[in-house]
Amino acid sequence: MKHVFTAKHPTEAHLIRGMLEAEGIRAEVRGDQLYGAFGELPVLPTVWILDASADAEAQRLVGEFLRGTPAWRHRHERWTCAQCGEALEGQFTDCWNCGAARPAIA
Ligand SMILES: [Zn+2]
Repeated sequence: MKHVFTAKHPTEAHLIRGMLEAEGIRAEVRGDQLYGAFGELPVLPTVWILDASADAEAQRLVGEFLRGTPAWRHRHERWTCAQCGEALEGQFTDCWNCGAARPAIA
């Protein structure tokens, strides 16, 4: 077990857990039932991964998730370079063929 994230509230913790599991990293939330139970001393929910060797990958995914980068939100959508027509995988923010930036995405 490895701690990868301390959330501000249980909903956020479960979002992170679900995102990690969707990426194939087993994770669980601890402390979500204790949230707010101690009045002056809130216990923040934490997210843990079961396989500590996935720590670096988990940290990267959590970081991207929190930044909400377009590349993250659209990472599964292929796109076509408007300049040279190259078909690109969703995780690329620039065309590897001609260097043009990916068109703005909402
Ligand atoms: Zn291109």
